[in-house]
Amino acid sequence: MPPVPQDLFLEMCYEAVRANADWVPPEGKGALYLRPLLMGSGAALGVGPSSEFTFVIYVAPVGSYFPGGARLRVETNHHRAAEMGVGYVKAAGNYAPCFLPQKDAKEKGFSDVLYFDPSGTRVEEAAASNFFCVTKDGVLKTPSLGTILAGVTRDTILKLARRLTSTESGLLTSVQETSISLGEILEAREAFVTGTAAAVGWPSHRDGNV
Ligand SMILES: *Cc1c(COP(=O)(O)O)cnc(C)c1O
Repeated sequence: MPPVPQDLFLEMCYEAVRANADWVPPEGKGALYLRPLLMGSGAALGVGPSSEFTFVIYVAPVGSYFPGGARLRVETNHHRAAEMGVGYVKAAGNYAPCFLPQKDAKEKGFSDVLYFDPSGTRVEEAAASNFFCVTKDGVLKTPSLGTILAGVTRDTILKLARRLTSTESGLLTSVQETSISLGEILEAREAFVTGTAAAVGWPSHRDGNV
């Protein structure tokens, strides 16, 4: 797919917000969510890259992604995205395989699923948000990039956290992009997920348990 030129992308964001300004929720009550989408729309049925592409931006007023807090179900029987695959891309096809495990988790009272690598030892991320935890000695940990999405909220949190470690606050001792086991998560001081839609999703009980 050809990348959308940055100027066009920004101009369309501004236009979409201007045209839907009446739908921006009052401050503190929610947000106007922007969902850009680039899709093949060429007139061909063959399996192959499209000859033509359509770029659209949907907007919708949204409330909290995790009302009442995030309660994540550890999922080791289903894998989100393969190594050397496209897990690092915000591609529609990465979501569809998550719907069934997600539906099952929601029916059992969870807000989302927490995915692990195929061996079930390293946490990856939730279906549409990145994972973080803080160890008892104040180390902020998040899985390293590869199969997971390089979320802009993840990047923001990392930048803010690195700044915090260089202050005297003592809140964080260091920041690590590393592999994280379930054992470490259960031992953690706190844990949260991040995303543009999810914002920062804390557990419903902030006792460090996922
Ligand atoms: C959208 C998304 C995120 C969060 O990305 P942001 O750029 O912070 O919105 C994380 N993981 C997955 C799989 C996502 O689809």
